[in-house]
Amino acid sequence: MQYSPVLDRSLFPNPGRDISSQQAPFTEDAAIVVHALADYIRESGNRDVPVIHQPVLETVIEQLELRQHIARGDLTGESLRHFVQDYLSATTRLHHPGFLAHQVAVPHTTGALGSLIDGATNNAMAIYEMGPAASSIEYFMINWMLEKIGWTGTTSNRQLDPQSGHAGGVLTHGGSLANLTALLAARGARVPAFWKSGNPGNQVVLVPEQSHYSMKRAVAILGLGEDNCLTLPADADGRVQPAHMTEQIADLQSQGRQVMAIVANACGTAAGLYDPLTEIAAICREHHIWLHVDAAHGGGALVSDKLRHLLHGIELADSVVWDAHKMMCTPTVCAAVLVRDHRHLDHAFEQEASYLLHAKDQPGFDFISRTVECTKAGLGLRLFMTIAAMGEAGLARHVEGLVQRAREAADLIRERIGFELAIQPETNILCFRISGDDHIQLEIRRQLLELGDFYISSTLYRGQRWLRLVFMNPATSLNDIQALLDEIVDIRSGID
Ligand SMILES: *Cc1c(COP(=O)(O)O)cnc(C)c1O
Repeated sequence: MQYSPVLDRSLFPNPGRDISSQQAPFTEDAAIVVHALADYIRESGNRDVPVIHQPVLETVIEQLELRQHIARGDLTGESLRHFVQDYLSATTRLHHPGFLAHQVAVPHTTGALGSLIDGATNNAMAIYEMGPAASSIEYFMINWMLEKIGWTGTTSNRQLDPQSGHAGGVLTHGGSLANLTALLAARGARVPAFWKSGNPGNQVVLVPEQSHYSMKRAVAILGLGEDNCLTLPADADGRVQPAHMTEQIADLQSQGRQVMAIVANACGTAAGLYDPLTEIAAICREHHIWLHVDAAHGGGALVSDKLRHLLHGIELADSVVWDAHKMMCTPTVCAAVLVRDHRHLDHAFEQEASYLLHAKDQPGFDFISRTVECTKAGLGLRLFMTIAAMGEAGLARHVEGLVQRAREAADLIRERIGFELAIQPETNILCFRISGDDHIQLEIRRQLLELGDFYISSTLYRGQRWLRLVFMNPATSLNDIQALLDEIVDIRSGID
C-alpha cells in the first residue's frame, strides 16, 4: 500500500531533515555522562561523600538550573557535564557502603547499560512487532524465573497451546503493580463474573499481618473494599500460623463469606521473615483458595541452592511476585508476576483493544494481554544483562553474601550492651534497637541521616519501633556495622 501524506506539510519546514542532526553529538555526550557516573560510583564506594544529603527542593531546582536549561535548550557538552555533576551531588548514593535503608538493588553497571539501550531504542515491547529482541528476552527471562520456582513455561509461543496449563508471566513496572495483577488473576479465576457484573459482595482476601501496603491497596483498587482485606492468624514473630487458618476460613464461611485469595510473604517487608508456604498451600488446596506468594523481596533466594529452602513449597502457589530490582542487582524497576497456569493471566483482562489485540499471524508473543500497561519498557533486558554479566553462580554468591552479612551483623549486635535484636535475620533484613523508647529510635535515625555516614530505615514490628538495616551493598563490611553501632551509641549519649 502506498503511504498517503495526510499531514499539513507546512508544519514541517524541513521534512527531509534527519532527526538525529537536530540532536546533540551522542557519543561525546554519552562519554561525559559515563565518566561522571564512573567517578560517582568510585567516590561513593570510597565513603568520600555522604551516603545521603537532602537539600530542600527549591534549592535543588535552582541549583540544577532547571528553568534556564529548559529555556535555553543547551544540555550538551560542558553544560551537560555541569548538570550531571549537580544532579549527582543531590542523589542518594546506593553505592556507598553506608547505604542500608531500603530494598533497592545497588545496580550492576551492565544492567544499567541495559536501561540505556532500552531508553535509546524505546521499543515499547508489549506487542512483539514493537520490539522482537526485547519481547524475546522478556519471554526467556520469565521462563528462567518460572524454572527457579519449579514451574515450566513454553520454549516457544508457537507451541503455546491455549488449552494447556503451563506456567506463564509478565514483567511489570514494580512489585506493587505485580501484586495488583496477581490478585486480578485470582479474581478472574475465583469470581469470573466480577469483571462484568461487579462485586458480589461476599469476597474477602486474607493477608499476613506483615504484608506490604500494596496488598491492601490492590484489594481496594480491585473493588473488594479495604475492609474485606483481613489479617491471617500470626505467631508472636508475625509469621502466618497455618494451624489457626482452617478455623478462620470456617468462621468466614459460616458468615456467608468467600475467601477469594490468601497471601503469604516470602519474605515480609519489615523483618524479612518467610511464611511456612507448604502448610499454607495445603490449606489453600483443600479449600480451593487461590494462593498468592509475595516474594517481591525474598524471591532472590531462589537463585541460591543454599537459600532456596526458605521458599520451600513456593511451587504450590497459584501466583508469585518477584522483584529483580531488589536482591538481584537489577536497575529499577523490574518485577515479575508469575502464574502456575498461564490461562489465569491471559484471561485476567477480558477487555480488548482491537487495534493491538487483533488475531494476527506473527513470529513472536504479545505480552499486552497480560498486563495493566500498554506502553511497556524492555524490562527483561536490564535483568538479562545483569545476570549475563555476573553469571548465575555470581548472582547466587551475591545474594548469599548479603544474607551472610546480615547474620554476622546480628551476631555483633547481640554482643553489644544496650542493643536489642528483634529476631535472628532469615534474609538480608535486620531489625534492632538501642535502649530507649520509640521516639529515641526515630531521633537516632534522624541524626544518623544528618551526619551522612549511614542511611538506615525504621519499621514498626511487634508493636514497637525498630531501626532497620537492609543489606544491599556487597561492599558493606562488618567494620562499617561496628562504626554504625559506635555512632548510634554516640548519638544516644547526646540525647539524655
Ligand atoms: C518491595 C515489596 C513490594 C513492593 O514492590 P515495589 O517494586 O516496591 O513496588 C511488595 N511486597 C513486598 C513483600 C516487598 O518487599
